[in-house]
Amino acid sequence: MLRKEMQEGEMNSKKKNNSESFIDEIKKVPEDVVSDFQNGKSISQCIALLANCENFKGKEKSELREWVYTANSLIINEKSAKYAEENNLKNATYKIITAGNELVCKRCESLSRKKFVLMDRKAGENCPPLHLGCKCAAAIYPEW
Ligand SMILES: [Zn+2]
Repeated sequence: MLRKEMQEGEMNSKKKNNSESFIDEIKKVPEDVVSDFQNGKSISQCIALLANCENFKGKEKSELREWVYTANSLIINEKSAKYAEENNLKNATYKIITAGNELVCKRCESLSRKKFVLMDRKAGENCPPLHLGCKCAAAIYPEW
C-alpha cells in the first residue's frame, strides 16, 4: 500500500527524462509476478502471468522476459540498499557490477568504473537496472 503511494508521488513529481519513465514502466510489473519469480516459479510461468496484465498485453514473449528480469533486478537492488539505510550505513557506497561479457552496453560499462554514494542512488540513472534488460547489479560497500 505504502509502496503504491510512493510510486504515484514519484510519478507526479518527476516525469521528465527517459530513465525515469523507464523506471515508472518497470514499476508497472506487478509485485506478485516478481515475488512468484523470486519464489521459484519458472520464467515462462511469470511471462504468462505478465502477458495477462493490462500494461503488458500484446508484447512479445522475449520482451516480457526482459521486463520480468529487470523488475526483479530493481527489487533486489532496492532491498539491499534499504537494508544498508536501515542499518544507518550513511557513508555506504556502491559500484555497478556488469555481466562482464560482450553484451554490456557502453553506458553501463562506463558507469561501472565509478563509485557512488548509496544515499544518492537513482535507479535508471546511476544505479541498476539502468535500462530494460540491464543485467547489472550494485555491490554495496558499507564503509563502517
Ligand atoms: Zn546494465
